[in-house]
Amino acid sequence: MVAVCNGSDSHFDVFPALNIVQRMSVPTPSSPAVLPLGELRGVGAERSAQLARLNIRTVDDLLLHRPRRYEDRRHFISIAEMQMNEAATARGKIIAAGLKRWRGGAKSVFEFILDDGSARLHCRWWNLPYMQNYFKVGDEILVYGKLNSLKPRTIDHPETEVVESLEALIHLNRIVPIYPLTEGLPQRWIRSLISRTVEQFESKIAEPHPGMMIAGLPGRAHAIRLLHCPEEMDDTEIARRRLALDELIDLQTTIQKRRKRLEANSRGLPCSGTNQLIRKFLAQLGFQLTEAQTKVLREIRADVGGAHPMRRLLQGDVGSGKTVVAASAALMALESGYDVALMAPTEILAEQHFKNFQNWFLSLGISVELLTGSTKTTGERAAKQDSLKLSAAPADKPTATLYVGTHALIENAFAPEKLGMVIIDEQHKFGVAQREKLLRKGIYPHLLVMTATPIPRTLGLTLYGDLDISVIDQLPAGRARIKTYVRAEEKLPKVWEFIREKLSEGRQAYVVYPRLEEADEKAGIKAVTKEFVKLKKIIAPYEIGLLHGKLRSSEKESVMSAFRANKIQMLLATSVIEVGIDVPNATVMLVENAEQFGLAQLHQLRGRIGRGAEDSFCILIASEKTDSASARLRVLEESRDGFRIAEEDLRLRGPGELIGQQQSGLPPFRFADLRKDRLLVEQARELVRENLKKNK
Ligand code: ADP
Ligand code: MG
Repeated sequence: MVAVCNGSDSHFDVFPALNIVQRMSVPTPSSPAVLPLGELRGVGAERSAQLARLNIRTVDDLLLHRPRRYEDRRHFISIAEMQMNEAATARGKIIAAGLKRWRGGAKSVFEFILDDGSARLHCRWWNLPYMQNYFKVGDEILVYGKLNSLKPRTIDHPETEVVESLEALIHLNRIVPIYPLTEGLPQRWIRSLISRTVEQFESKIAEPHPGMMIAGLPGRAHAIRLLHCPEEMDDTEIARRRLALDELIDLQTTIQKRRKRLEANSRGLPCSGTNQLIRKFLAQLGFQLTEAQTKVLREIRADVGGAHPMRRLLQGDVGSGKTVVAASAALMALESGYDVALMAPTEILAEQHFKNFQNWFLSLGISVELLTGSTKTTGERAAKQDSLKLSAAPADKPTATLYVGTHALIENAFAPEKLGMVIIDEQHKFGVAQREKLLRKGIYPHLLVMTATPIPRTLGLTLYGDLDISVIDQLPAGRARIKTYVRAEEKLPKVWEFIREKLSEGRQAYVVYPRLEEADEKAGIKAVTKEFVKLKKIIAPYEIGLLHGKLRSSEKESVMSAFRANKIQMLLATSVIEVGIDVPNATVMLVENAEQFGLAQLHQLRGRIGRGAEDSFCILIASEKTDSASARLRVLEESRDGFRIAEEDLRLRGPGELIGQQQSGLPPFRFADLRKDRLLVEQARELVRENLKKNK
């Protein structure tokens, strides 16, 4: 090991205010927080490269390198008490040591014998001859490991430490951190390096957020010490929470400052409108809004008449009636003379919205346009526009337009004249960047984003901290019940019998598979295209259709309209039908390989049924034999509460699964864990809010 030692640590003094602050983003090289590792004693080019593979490039990174677990090596037992296959620490004196070589020195074993008065212990290292340099007869040694033989008592490759003074031990006689490693980097080496680095830098670690503290949590410097040198096992969690708090405060600061900046720089476009079109629209709907819908509309109305642009997230379980709310919100902008863009994640959904809004709005004299990947071919689009303009916008009316579309709306070709409101349906399918891009097509238009994935509060505050949140927490009255059953694969024949029976009663069904083409026979995971061929025969004389993301949109559209018109009775699909589709006569859903889906996703899927007055049935086939898979699915049998289901998903599978990995915009936390840090998230939000108020 090269020990680069220039006699003093004085080269650190060129960074007088060494401010070891942790940041979400990589700090710029000019920041004193990023002292390069090469400056540390014992870290040369090779070690630096290895550490870089663990994303450790600076002293900061090193201090925040989180142990993957801890071992409590404080308790010694006598060698006589040591057991096979049970890790323990013993302490004794070396009474003999020697190296044996054979095959011309290619093979070797170094061995010493330790005696503690109760028994003798043989410690061996195979093919590591240099180990002989570290030990000599008479040394007092701590040994940690499991016996791999009893006669004689032997441990191969134990962890050891020579006892010079018990206090100074790093690897034994304490709660020992076990770090993530990379090839060529020994555990003991990084443990020593981190231990030395903590000693050297602890006093220089600054509080990154002075004044934002929670009672009961230590300062940052102390937390970093506890992370690497805990005195009790509980200390490790205290350290984690403290460091997590800093991450969450950083994130909340970004979020809240962004919101403040928006409010300082922008004025809300006046979109209170005249209320006339909305009144007409609601009168022609054929049903009363629920109380929850009305409440949300009031919130939206206050937003669009306010001083700043609306930034609102509307959460409502599947079927809770978000579309009508979106339509009313759109009308506020439209009747104030502004264009509105409504973006949906799939063509099927965009087209469905387009049809609905056409039905609703044409009679109100508002033109509705559709923009998707497939309407982009200019001829078709121009023709569509013309026909719409003809039928939809009489010359004497204000010509505000509602644009409905997919990602196509983000592209440059889409340039609305005066965009006053952006509505994003199924928001979790889009990234934050896409949302921003669409917003920039106007001058601070109002924003309403909608999601049917109930976001647990922890995640909501983290992800959508810069949005106001409205919840539709009530389904329209008279909704049919959805009964959900989790069944094992063996029950499939019975299930098909049941489905045929429902089809014979005139109902329709969805059948959902996790894969498109590639079935995984070994794991028993089915693919929709394969099953389609098989089921065609089984299900005759009923017609079946196939729907998945790879179809051309004209094909999708013709399958969907055939299903809507009941020309197809059973629709096989991948999870593309997850969002938005509305066919009230479809009352049965079968999901095969249900264990392959997240709970929240299954809940979404199941929202496709139960849309009419007939009772509906959702059957989840748990093909995986494990109990935990079916236990997880049973949450869906018991609950229709989307929030509860999402909490469960968050707990079991983490935030990435719930909201989509890259889309989320979540920073990669080292310490924060949204599965359990709900309280910390709330506290961080409050601390930042008060801090920003004070420092206005
Ligand atoms: P989601 O919130 O999942 O987007 P939708 O907006 O698609 O739900 O609404 C589901 C169905 O409920 C639609 O057919 C819609 O017309 C209907 N609906 C919406 N609001 C009401 C209401 N207040 N009373 C009765 N039916 C409603
Ligand atoms: Mg919807």
